[in-house]
Amino acid sequence: MAAHHRKIANQRRDFAHQRRDFAHQLSRRLVNDYDLIVFEDLQIKNMARRPRPRPDGTGGYEANGANAKAGLNRSIHDAGWGEFIAMTIYKAESAGREVIAVDPRNTSRTCSGCGHVSAGNRHGAVFRCLGCGREANADVNAAENILGAGGARQLIAA
Ligand SMILES: [Zn+2]
Repeated sequence: MAAHHRKIANQRRDFAHQRRDFAHQLSRRLVNDYDLIVFEDLQIKNMARRPRPRPDGTGGYEANGANAKAGLNRSIHDAGWGEFIAMTIYKAESAGREVIAVDPRNTSRTCSGCGHVSAGNRHGAVFRCLGCGREANADVNAAENILGAGGARQLIAA
């Protein structure tokens, strides 16, 4: 039993190492290849905060979405997103690159072509604009919006 637990602990540690290596490599590549790096500001700390139980007045507790939120917390921590962003910012500073965080609202619902905003623009992995008919990979469309928002912030700051 102890050996079994040790094996699981080793696997977890190996996974954490691999994840950190990957985050180091990817952040290094971003900083080497790009002058401007734009992230969605997902407020990792807020999202990862544990939901507070809500008393229902009868001694029990009503559902507060704790299960769904616990799943989200786990995936955020597993992905190590905050750690990856921190590494990128650190490397960018010493290389003189710019890192900007932008508001994530509507980045996946907005057409990067014409600016039309609608939840109906999104069809899973495909983005199809109800305004102009433009079709694109949904992640690419969102990335274009995020980069555009970062570029706009850069212009305002300049
Ligand atoms: Zn459009």
